[in-house]
Amino acid sequence: MNEIFAQYCNNRHDMARKWKQETGKKVYGYFCCMSPEEILFAADILPVRITGTGEPLQKADLHVPPNSCPFARSCLDAGMQGHYDYLDGVVVPNSCDIIFSMEYLWKTLVKRPNPPSMVGGIDLKPYVHYINYPEKINSRGVLPFYKEVLSIFKQELERGNNRLITDEDMSRAITAYNDDKFQLKRLYEMRKTDPPAVSGFEAWQAVYASILMPKDQHAALLKESLDEIEKTGRKAEEGVRIYLSGSAMDRVNADIIKVIEECGGQVVTDDLCVGTRSFWYPISTELPPLEAIARRSLGTACPRSTVKERIPENRWAHIVNTIKGYDVEGAIFYVLKCCDARLGEYPHLRDKIKEEMGLPSLFLEGDYTAEGVEQMRGRVEAFIEMIGG
Ligand code: SF4
Repeated sequence: MNEIFAQYCNNRHDMARKWKQETGKKVYGYFCCMSPEEILFAADILPVRITGTGEPLQKADLHVPPNSCPFARSCLDAGMQGHYDYLDGVVVPNSCDIIFSMEYLWKTLVKRPNPPSMVGGIDLKPYVHYINYPEKINSRGVLPFYKEVLSIFKQELERGNNRLITDEDMSRAITAYNDDKFQLKRLYEMRKTDPPAVSGFEAWQAVYASILMPKDQHAALLKESLDEIEKTGRKAEEGVRIYLSGSAMDRVNADIIKVIEECGGQVVTDDLCVGTRSFWYPISTELPPLEAIARRSLGTACPRSTVKERIPENRWAHIVNTIKGYDVEGAIFYVLKCCDARLGEYPHLRDKIKEEMGLPSLFLEGDYTAEGVEQMRGRVEAFIEMIGG
C-alpha cells in the first residue's frame, strides 16, 4: 500500500537509527498499547514499540524460563543482543506478568547507553521507566492514582531530558495521535466493502508502521495512500471474511494473515494489539491533557484486565465495535503459547461469539516462529473451506 510502511515493517531498526541520525532526537522503546506514548511524543521523543525477532534465542533463556511467553522472551533477547542499542529509554507498563518483569530484566541485562545519575541511591535519570498500570482498571480510585503515576513518569522524562513538557506539548501530541487514529479508522472503514479496498496484510503493515514512526508523518502518508485508493477504486482479493483475534503480533508472526489470505480468506478486522486495540478510540480534547491520556490508557481493551469477570464489559464492547458492519463470516484466534491473558479468556470469548454472533471459530496456538505459522496452513485451509462451502 505504501513503500515506506513496508520499509518500516521489514527494516525497523535501521529506519529508527536513520531517523535518529537525521533529526538528532531521542528514541524510546515501549511495551504494550497501554503505555502513555503520547507523553513521549510531547517531549519530542519518538516512541517505538519493542518487538522480537522470531530467531532462536541466544541469551534470554539463561534468565527467563522457557515456559513463558515466546514473544516477550524474544524481545528481551533482541535487547540483550544489542538490536535496540539506539534506544535512549524504555517504558514498561504493568500489563501481563512477563512484561511486568521486563522492568527488572531490561534494567539488569540490557546495556544502557549512559551511566545512571545516582543521588542518595536514586537514579534521577532512569533508563527504564516503570508504569504502574493498575490491576483493576475501573474502580473509583483508579483514575486519580493513575494520573499520579503518569505525572511521575512525565517528571522523570523532564529531568532526564532537561526539558519541561507543557500542556501545549501534550495537546499537540493528542492532536497528532487523533489525526493518525482518524486515518487508521478510515483505512478500516474501507475494509467493510466486499471485496475490501485493502487486504488484511496491507492494513496490518500500515498499523505496524504506525507504532514505529512519528505519528504525524504516519498520518500524512496514510492519508495520501487512502486518497489514492479512493481515487482509483482499487480492491483487494475477495475471500471468506475473517475476524482475527490474538496475542502480540509483529513482523515474525503476522504472516498468519498472509496464510489466511492465501487459503481463500480475507482478514477484514481484528482484535489485536498491533491492530484495533492500538487506535480505535480517539483521545478526548475536552479534558486536561494528562487526564485525557490517562483515560485513553486505562480504556485499552486488553485481555490482561480480565480480573473478576470472564469477559469484562469494555472487552466485549470493543469486540462488538470492531466486528459490526464488517460482515464477518468466521473468527480465527491466534494465541501465543503461555499467553495467560489470552488463553484464560479464549473459551469464554469463543462461546460468546458463537452464541451472540453465530460465528464459527478456529483456535491456533502459535510459538512465535515463521515455521510455526506455516504449519498452521492446513487447519486454516480446512476452516475457510468449511465456511466457504
Ligand atoms: S503475548 Fe500475552 S503473555 Fe506475551 S506479552 Fe502479550 S499479553 Fe503478555
